[in-house]
Amino acid sequence: MIYITYYNMLSLPDVSCYFQLEYLKSRSDKAISVGDKVIFMMLKSQKKAGEVTAEDIYPVATRGSVESIGDDWALIRTTGRVALDSVSVNGNSFNAEMRARPDIEDMDASELNDRFQRMRSALLKTFQDTEWLPGSRNTIMRWTNINELVTFTSTLLQIPSEDKYAILEEDSVSRRTEMIEKAFYESLELYKVNSEAKSAQEKSNEQLYREQAIRRQMNFLQEELDKLHPENITDVRKFEKKIAESGMNDTARSEAEKVLNRMKQEGQDGHEYGMLYDYLDFVTGLSWKKERMGKIDLKVAQKVLDEDHFGLKKTKERIIQQIAVMALNKKQSGSILLFVGAPGTGKTSIGQSIAKALKRSYVRVSLGGIRDEAEIRGHRRTYIGAMPGRIMDGIRRSGTSNPVMVLDEVDKLVRDYGGDPSSALLEVLDPEQNSTFTDHYMNVPYDLSDVLFVCTANTTDTIPEPLLNRMEVISFPGYSASEKFEIAKRHLLPKAMKKAGISEKNISISDDAIKSIISDYTMEAGVRSLKNRLDSLCRIAAVKIVSGEEKKVEVTKDNLRELFDASPIRHDHVLEAKRPGIVTGLAWTQAGGDILFIETLFTKGDGKVIITGQLGDVMRESVQIAISLVKAMFPEKADLFKENDLHVHVPAGSVPKDGPSAGITLTTALSSLVTGKAVSPEYAMTGEVSLRGVVMPIGGLPEKLMAALRAGVKEVFIPDENVDDLKDVAEEVRTNLKITPVHYVEDVLGRVGIIEKK
Ligand code: ADP
Repeated sequence: MIYITYYNMLSLPDVSCYFQLEYLKSRSDKAISVGDKVIFMMLKSQKKAGEVTAEDIYPVATRGSVESIGDDWALIRTTGRVALDSVSVNGNSFNAEMRARPDIEDMDASELNDRFQRMRSALLKTFQDTEWLPGSRNTIMRWTNINELVTFTSTLLQIPSEDKYAILEEDSVSRRTEMIEKAFYESLELYKVNSEAKSAQEKSNEQLYREQAIRRQMNFLQEELDKLHPENITDVRKFEKKIAESGMNDTARSEAEKVLNRMKQEGQDGHEYGMLYDYLDFVTGLSWKKERMGKIDLKVAQKVLDEDHFGLKKTKERIIQQIAVMALNKKQSGSILLFVGAPGTGKTSIGQSIAKALKRSYVRVSLGGIRDEAEIRGHRRTYIGAMPGRIMDGIRRSGTSNPVMVLDEVDKLVRDYGGDPSSALLEVLDPEQNSTFTDHYMNVPYDLSDVLFVCTANTTDTIPEPLLNRMEVISFPGYSASEKFEIAKRHLLPKAMKKAGISEKNISISDDAIKSIISDYTMEAGVRSLKNRLDSLCRIAAVKIVSGEEKKVEVTKDNLRELFDASPIRHDHVLEAKRPGIVTGLAWTQAGGDILFIETLFTKGDGKVIITGQLGDVMRESVQIAISLVKAMFPEKADLFKENDLHVHVPAGSVPKDGPSAGITLTTALSSLVTGKAVSPEYAMTGEVSLRGVVMPIGGLPEKLMAALRAGVKEVFIPDENVDDLKDVAEEVRTNLKITPVHYVEDVLGRVGIIEKK
């Protein structure tokens, strides 16, 4: 007896099938010969040979016999079903009692044949388009009954193995073939659906691959063509490429692609074409890549700062601190620096040095006179002539995403109907918001968080509070004459010569000449006019040399006037004669410090007060306070104010001077006027006064003292509360100027000789 076990297949009667002889031998206890009995036993679950137990075997099986034997095969034909009793298994050998289990023949042969033919053609039809078939077409055509068909396709039947056994167990031929038919058609349908889905998937994959291949090929060919005819590269193609290479984030890319599509539709003659072109040109010109912050070497940074700028010790210290903080945090941090000082004091150029020290690109954005918010945040693209704002324009000019951006003249923003530019600027500078700064023109966010912002201003007075709060003020008080001299020798002159293309062989400028330029031809806190003067000397020399007039131009103190063709500036210098009623004051202006003379005069009249000069209302109040104080201090002279008209004049230039800090000067001038005692112009003073006669603190002390020294003043009275500010005053000024702190008006009057010293 040959026992064959199987799982999840069906073996039905009346089927012939070839088996390997080897295999059959392993399932039998003796050699195989024709006529041997064979039992096909169906298993309940998948088991390896040798592991099968009696419980694993279903009770109905199929029997057959060996029909013929070849070299290495045997043909077995199944003959009917059997019911198994008392099965015993021992390793690979089985034993079982069995009884025949006859079919109930309840179906007519032709009907059965019809069923078989239908199923066979369905099978062939389903698989006709595939290369795979369960058996070759010829084999299928050789099948003669439904059992054969089911036996050979039973692994295809998509039903659980219990259901397959249920088919085997069924005695009624009609019911059995019905079950078979149902399972068979369902399985075919399932197969069809699966293979359709699979092929749909394959198709779409195939299409995708195809598309990619074509595209790659097209790009390659296009590039080859472009190389041959660079002049023919179309805008659309240019931008397609630029967008692909730009590294834009997804939002920006989809916006750019939208614009590109419109550009394609519009065509070159469309009236929006130019606008679309400009947009794409702009956004693809921006750097979208996150720049890595280079390694920061503080020593190198310090060296760069020292090389570019003379002096400014404190400022440089603060900048180095900022750089150190950035190195530690590996990102932009710390407060935003605001450099405040007169023009030409080096604010912008030190910004440039910071960039150099950090090895980053530098860009300057001028904000002076901006009155429209859109200048900062950009115009919406719906406007004709819309443009990006200055911030994004600066980013674009810098070519990187992390430049050092100097925002120049933040004090000159104007607020009017165009919105508030300072609030837009606030957003730019706010680290919480600026990583998604959205310029209206671009309409997509751009990350500004890596930009190092540095602001400059001449004064903090006009900067709105919220903006000022974001920044740390570093003041640039201006340079003393000797500092200017050093700056001229070390920096300005070499640069000027280089610019004019001349060398020391062509020009020599004596130290006295430089000093004279500083004191007689310029009047400033910074070095801008000094630089212009030196530039102009080098240009003059260049002309003389090129024209052959001279080989080498010697500039001395004496020929300056001739070379410049200009007389020295007449400084508000020591007055020729002292007169009662005139006193030297000090003022702070946006251009640095300056001295001023307050002139007072009584004329015949009836107590009117006339004020002239460009001083405004604040000054008017200061005059009133001074008059009251003087009347109180000199009660015997009070009538003078009733019997005369008082004229107060401040021969101001075009710069508005700061009013209140002239209080002490006014009071002294009036005291001098009423007492008839003149005050030496070598004394200068600054300070507000109160009605109690207290001299109160003022701002801009370093600039004012510098101006006093420049003008030749010998002694300055300052409010004693300002003494702390002296640490910001240049050493040179402190040693060359007598600085006397005062608390009461009387301290000044005593010192200048109007009243007896207390
Ligand atoms: P600001 O921005 O304060 O108006 P700038 O930075 O434009 O001034 O400076 C004007 C010129 O003076 C520049 O050429 C600058 O290099 C030069 N300069 C200013 N300060 C110094 C300094 N301390 N050392 C060398 N050059 C200086």
